[in-house]
Amino acid sequence: MNYVTHLECSMCRLELESERLWNLCPNCRKPLLVRYDLAAVRQKVTREDIARREPNLWRYEEVLPVRKDIYKLTLGEGYTPLITARRLGKVVDFPNLLIKEEGVNPTCSFKARGLVMAVSRAYELGVKALSIPSAGNAAGAMSAYASLAGIPAFVFMPRDVPKPFVAECLALGASVTLIDGLITDCGRVAANEVAEYGRFDVSTLKEPYRIEGKKTMGYEVAEQLGWALPDVIIYPTGGGTGLIGMWKAFAEMEALGWIDSKRPRMVTVQAEGCAPMVRAFQREEQFAEPWKNAHTVADGLRVPAAVGDFLILNALRESQGTAVAVSDREMMDGANLIGRTEGLFASPEGGATLAAFQKLRAEGWIRDDETVVLFNTGSGHKYAHLWVKERKDKG
Ligand SMILES: *Cc1c(COP(=O)(O)O)cnc(C)c1O
Ligand SMILES: [Zn+2]
Repeated sequence: MNYVTHLECSMCRLELESERLWNLCPNCRKPLLVRYDLAAVRQKVTREDIARREPNLWRYEEVLPVRKDIYKLTLGEGYTPLITARRLGKVVDFPNLLIKEEGVNPTCSFKARGLVMAVSRAYELGVKALSIPSAGNAAGAMSAYASLAGIPAFVFMPRDVPKPFVAECLALGASVTLIDGLITDCGRVAANEVAEYGRFDVSTLKEPYRIEGKKTMGYEVAEQLGWALPDVIIYPTGGGTGLIGMWKAFAEMEALGWIDSKRPRMVTVQAEGCAPMVRAFQREEQFAEPWKNAHTVADGLRVPAAVGDFLILNALRESQGTAVAVSDREMMDGANLIGRTEGLFASPEGGATLAAFQKLRAEGWIRDDETVVLFNTGSGHKYAHLWVKERKDKG
């Protein structure tokens, strides 16, 4: 049973039928969102039903877009630990600090959540080849699920992306193209080839289903906190799918009667060398101007422009949240502090959330009695070069 009713444009509200492939809104070129008959889901499923299910993201299947079970691909993604950071909490003198540990997902990052959904739905709708521009982790995740579905995968990454990201895609059987430039340049090349070869493009927010996979982080945080939400969520933001997705999940869960109307203050953290959302938030703009000369060691944050910029900025404002930029040094210090206290090998993106937490706490924006969730969005393993320089000599 599936409860999808239609797709809706996030900007112009155009409604589209859900049983064919769409990328952006054909009217205004903004992201499309999946809508469900939540009143019917509310009659059918309870939180107790959910509690008895398998520990992966398909436990929320009534609010996910794939119709038939045979198309629901899985490598065990989702239902990741929400860890109470007791030792870290002692070091920073803050009792209710939690870490959502996304590094344990298949392909070592939360990109698995978005891509399992996009690839499963593309599989169900009969896609013959998949294409993705990626700053790193998304390419590996797409390659994994494309392999599982038996669909050819074409990935486009910046030439200077760390080797483990490339190696993973090759091992998973994808065709890899390296581009001189950033993810936005990869996007242009991928788009040309999509038109030429009839591949389906699963770029962030340029198809409606990645966000549906990523929104499950919102369902999980609520379920893991006994169907309550924290006071603050700190999220390292590139394209913003997870942040927009969680914000959508909270509205859905309230409509389902699973949570009340209390919302966390949503915080975007970006790198000082690439902070288009932080700048647009501070200037009170509706859209973000593309960032020039983007540079940061956090590959997942090296995203100079995002098609869902206005949705990120809306969620920050509606939640009375904020946006913070941190330096690469601060991210690495953050990752090291998480590593030394909690036993987690965090990515620089994950480290960035701790750095942002420390800034906001010092300013008094976060109060001592609040509950804060940091998102470690990926494992540090693909970023080993940031800790250990490659050895040139063999001796
Ligand atoms: C892609 C990525 C991000 C940014 O995620 P968005 O949902 O695109 O904002 C953060 N951290 C890591 C490790 C990533 O791979
Ligand atoms: Zn539109």
